[in-house]
Amino acid sequence: MTNRPIYLDNHATTPLDERVLAAMLPYFTEHFGNPASISHLYGWEAEAAVKQARQTLADAINATPEEIVFTSGATEANNLAIKGVAEAYFSKGRHIITVQTEHNAVLDPCEYLQTLGFEVTFLPVQSDGLIDLSQLEKALRADTILVSVMAANNEIGVIQPLAEIGAMCRQRQVLFHTDAAQAIGKIHLDVDAMKIDLMSLTGHKVYGPKGIGALYVRRRNPRVQLSPQLHGGGHERGMRSGTLYPPQIVGFAKAVELALAERESEAQRLTQLRQELWEALSCIEGIHLNGHPTQRLPGNLNISVEGVDGAALSLGLQPIVAVSSGAACSSTKTAPSHVLMALGRSEKLAYASVRFGIGRYTTQEEISQVANTAIATIQSLRPQATN
Ligand SMILES: *Cc1c(COP(=O)(O)O)cnc(C)c1O
Repeated sequence: MTNRPIYLDNHATTPLDERVLAAMLPYFTEHFGNPASISHLYGWEAEAAVKQARQTLADAINATPEEIVFTSGATEANNLAIKGVAEAYFSKGRHIITVQTEHNAVLDPCEYLQTLGFEVTFLPVQSDGLIDLSQLEKALRADTILVSVMAANNEIGVIQPLAEIGAMCRQRQVLFHTDAAQAIGKIHLDVDAMKIDLMSLTGHKVYGPKGIGALYVRRRNPRVQLSPQLHGGGHERGMRSGTLYPPQIVGFAKAVELALAERESEAQRLTQLRQELWEALSCIEGIHLNGHPTQRLPGNLNISVEGVDGAALSLGLQPIVAVSSGAACSSTKTAPSHVLMALGRSEKLAYASVRFGIGRYTTQEEISQVANTAIATIQSLRPQATN
């Protein structure tokens, strides 16, 4: 028994897999070289490790190594994709389409571009969290330069129809960007089959290190133009200057490689655990599942409970279970989740939400303990109206 709470916040971040740590360690110490040093062994061995990692990541999404641009994470990758395309294509058009349920790392760059004179359409979603493809089709205009739709949602886990969106965009020669921070290693991703032009990735949602991510940038059919957002030594083919960080890069690639190797069996296991948790909780009166019941990440369960404040619930659970109410990045705000509001949930139910993020190290025993604790906590928070 440990007295640390059970960790069920795997959409906020995941623990580092020990196999990832082992792969990283030599690059902190003896292999410390700068991959850009071309005149000695230290540089060559760092460069070889980065090259291998780039290949692994490219293979994971059916891209080529030259199409992988390392960044500090998905926030930076989203900023580079959205602002980079806006600056490079503004003479072609100034209209961008995204979705109301996107992460702030997509919404905020779009809002920033509005202040520069770009027009942004924030598509609504259906009550299950999926976009309506016919609404996307109607929103596309002659001056649309970019469509940005996330692969899997960080609050409700809903998986958008990437291939359909990609086909629609390609047909109209509009670039398609997807924020795949929650999706990489968890669902099948193929930039060619899905006609994706730009894809944001991150390490720390897939049992890799924090502070490392990548942007996939398509090089052929079409070749995507991107204005760099960091200028300097011309690293990453001029798209993102700054010395590469080999330990993080090696760890990121190792994490993705492991997740892909174990993806199908892990998805089955997580779906089973989620189902058990949902079945145990569904005895609670006034409980609602947020988001599509099956078109979602295997480890995601997001619920709202009538008459119960989500923040109070996650606080009540805190000694036993670590969960978030709403998104981790906005849980310091007192506003209701913008994602749940976009699903058409009432403000009350949006406040009454808890996100369970089941992960690689979650056990069946923990799930039953979490279910019992949640049921007891909800009962204690409810006004004692019924006997
Ligand atoms: C976590 C997350 C981000 C931010 O990624 P960082 O690597 O932490 O910058 C962006 N988008 C989504 C969907 C996320 O879940």
